[in-house]
Amino acid sequence: MENPLTTKRKPVIGGNWKMHTTLSEAVDLASEVRNRLNSYGAAQTLVFPPFPFLGAVAQRLADSHIGLGAQDLHFEKKGAFTGAVSADMLVSVGCAWVLVGHSERRHVFGDGDEVVGKKLRAALTAGLKPVLCIGEKLEERKSGETFAVNRRQLRTALQGLDTAQLQHLVIAYEPVWAIGTGLVATPEQAQEVHADVRAAVGELLGGAFAAAVRIQYGGSVKAETAAGLLAKADVDGLLVGGASLKAEEFAAIVRARA
Ligand code: PEP
Repeated sequence: MENPLTTKRKPVIGGNWKMHTTLSEAVDLASEVRNRLNSYGAAQTLVFPPFPFLGAVAQRLADSHIGLGAQDLHFEKKGAFTGAVSADMLVSVGCAWVLVGHSERRHVFGDGDEVVGKKLRAALTAGLKPVLCIGEKLEERKSGETFAVNRRQLRTALQGLDTAQLQHLVIAYEPVWAIGTGLVATPEQAQEVHADVRAAVGELLGGAFAAAVRIQYGGSVKAETAAGLLAKADVDGLLVGGASLKAEEFAAIVRARA
């Protein structure tokens, strides 16, 4: 039997372009994504281009249903933080969304749980809709810490925030061992973590909020693996890296649930 709370959650599929594309490639990719997906209403589509191309992509996506987000932000509002980008800057170039705590920010650039929490607060203060990324490393999975690691990352980020502040929150479960490795989690592996993440959100913010919050899976998703993941009860979307750089494949992923 269908769970009515589950069916209310519209899938949200994000394309994280990482450090790829030039200006012209980014604008072309945005145009292609728009052409292929703007009229598709069964899922919400988001793209996360590199910082320098956000303004140009915003123009290309103006008056469309494709949401625009940044891949990161700094938690300070302004000041002597060379190379950093603030939440207000992102808003001013047309971003509505932002990734917070992506595993490459955590493990390549050293963002710890506290920094991720500060970034989440800065995003919310500026009115950006956050995609909070969490996920365990391979050695943590092997030592049986998967649930504990994801719960810790979630708790540190969400502690002290309320459901009104978090009304647009999307969570992305992205096991570090699956990102960019070609090793996709099985639908069953994703489902068991998503169910536990939802339970943890319920403990922090209440059952009604937990039932409504959307939890994406991310990690080496391709067109051929998307439908199986999206078929699981607690998988409400996908965050796609490499495969989002090809508009045709990304469109197939966004349409996979149908
Ligand atoms: C990501 O960047 O969030 C991601 C999941 O990358 P990939 O799909 O390439 O593993």
